[in-house]
Amino acid sequence: MSTLQEQHLASTMVGDLMISSEKVAHVQVNNPLEHALLVLVKSGYSAVPVLDSSYRLVGIIGKTVILNQILGLERFEFEKLSDMRVHEVMSKDIPQLTKEDTLVKGMNTLINYPFVCVRDKDGYFDGILTRRAILKQIKKDIYTAKKETE
Ligand code: AMP
Repeated sequence: MSTLQEQHLASTMVGDLMISSEKVAHVQVNNPLEHALLVLVKSGYSAVPVLDSSYRLVGIIGKTVILNQILGLERFEFEKLSDMRVHEVMSKDIPQLTKEDTLVKGMNTLINYPFVCVRDKDGYFDGILTRRAILKQIKKDIYTAKKETE
């Protein structure tokens, strides 16, 4: 990769590549688990952000943690889904980025997660950065660099 392409990668911000909040499926902190599982299954995503009633980011929730919660000795106890709320099982300790963070920071954070939530300084949800978006950008930069040397 040329120095120019490396510089381009270093000057790209998380905000340039994130999926903005209005396009991101999410659940609310007080939703029953039944609703969260429906959103996850219908959207096909393994996990989605959890927001409070003011659209502040409070965590993420995924299919596996929900299914584990209702796993009985011999069957899934689906009746539990309507009694339990998202805040009881969501992950609160999650990595977070801001739109102003560099893509390099985003890349480092995404090593261990398929997506990372982006929020502003007051905690309001701005969107998500996915591994897919980063890989697409790197592929584009490598392709451009290759064309330059041809
Ligand atoms: P992808 O890189 O598109 O495979 O997405 C990786 C993960 O990011 C998905 O499994 C979801 O957990 C999350 N994700 C991607 N796009 C969205 C979206 N529009 N709404 C909610 N979650 C998303």
